[in-house]
Amino acid sequence: MSELNLIMLGPPGAGKGTQAERLRTDFNLPHISTGDILRAEVADGTELGRKASEFMNAGKLVPDEVIVGMITGRVAEGDARDGFLLDGFPRNEAQAEALDAALLELDRHLTATLLIEVPDDDIVRRLAGRRVCVKNAAHIYHVDFDPPKHEGVCDQDGSRLEQRADDREDVIRTRLEVYHEQTEPLIAYYDRAGTLRRFDGLRSPDEVHAHIRATVATLRLEENL
Ligand code: ADP
Ligand code: ADP
Repeated sequence: MSELNLIMLGPPGAGKGTQAERLRTDFNLPHISTGDILRAEVADGTELGRKASEFMNAGKLVPDEVIVGMITGRVAEGDARDGFLLDGFPRNEAQAEALDAALLELDRHLTATLLIEVPDDDIVRRLAGRRVCVKNAAHIYHVDFDPPKHEGVCDQDGSRLEQRADDREDVIRTRLEVYHEQTEPLIAYYDRAGTLRRFDGLRSPDEVHAHIRATVATLRLEENL
């Protein structure tokens, strides 16, 4: 069996987490979300969480030295042997280079970089209306675009839904600036590497999912040839 080593790329609110959760079940891959890992550290009050939270609340990137070791270690774990879905990493060129080096060391390579494209104006509406399950951060909703059956309650486990601390309009603007400045150059980086695949994030979650799933299924067939 070939590996599926995948990166989800796109601005905050593009739908990376929503799609990663679906692809996780389709292809049986671990969904590795740096944002979720960091928020769990903050909630647990660890040293790392304390360091990270001031950057997260301001919408800035957490320093590379905190993130890189965490993720390069994570992709080397047993459950990621057949592949992984990286969501929220890499976010700048230094992180992308560190990931390349770590994969080379493991004698592995990237299968694809899945870019979900959404314009800035839509991003603000998406993030302002995002609601997340307090028990499982992978259960993501939107008050207008993907509402739960009962307001404020997770369909999947009945827990309360909450708004993320950084989904406030002023912080959203900073996050978008950071994205354009530091993360967007990765589109050219992965285009040069030949792994980039683009998806129209303005389609419905089901349509985006169908497109990505078809692409990943084809890539897997090609890897097996
Ligand atoms: P979104 O996809 O909505 O932008 P994330 O959950 O991926 O949000 O990230 C939330 C915050 O966590 C970021 O604004 C940043 O402070 C921090 N963070 C997440 N991933 C990284 C990373 N790879 N490098 C640096 N900071 C990160
Ligand atoms: P990211 O992980 O890229 O930050 P999320 O998956 O958390 O993005 O999605 C951000 C918000 O947009 C959530 O409220 C989610 O329900 C909503 N959303 C996700 N995909 C779509 C879509 N295709 N159309 C409309 N809203 C979407």
